[in-house]
Amino acid sequence: MARTRKAGFDIELPKESCNDKNCPFHGTLKVRGKQFTGKVVSDRMQHSVIVEWLGWRYIPKYERYKKTRTRIIAHSPPCINPVEGDIVKIGECRPLSKTKNFVVLKVLGKVEKYELEKEALAEGKRKEKPKETSKDEVEK
Ligand SMILES: [Zn+2]
Repeated sequence: MARTRKAGFDIELPKESCNDKNCPFHGTLKVRGKQFTGKVVSDRMQHSVIVEWLGWRYIPKYERYKKTRTRIIAHSPPCINPVEGDIVKIGECRPLSKTKNFVVLKVLGKVEKYELEKEALAEGKRKEKPKETSKDEVEK
């Protein structure tokens, strides 16, 4: 039996159990440092996921904001098993590989379907907009 322990902060234990030594709940991995919340954009790797979130950064010289995109590779313990489209909480841990020093702590929820559609629309908006205006002009 894998032993279970509570991580050193307020987070629930996952319902399932696992034998992964790099699991913060059933293994020996310690979680310390920063914690983030983001969206899983890829779960194709073995035991790893890519977590992404968007933000804004102020550029004083131009007095404008720049869009930022942060992508972090996080360890995916089998007991949590996050999939693409999940909103997850990740915590910093020791380096598990060259590019991996975060671990998924909890699945907070799913990105709603309409939100994904909204994003798709936002990307295609520039193409669609001129069509809409031209339609209005024709109607008038
Ligand atoms: Zn586990």
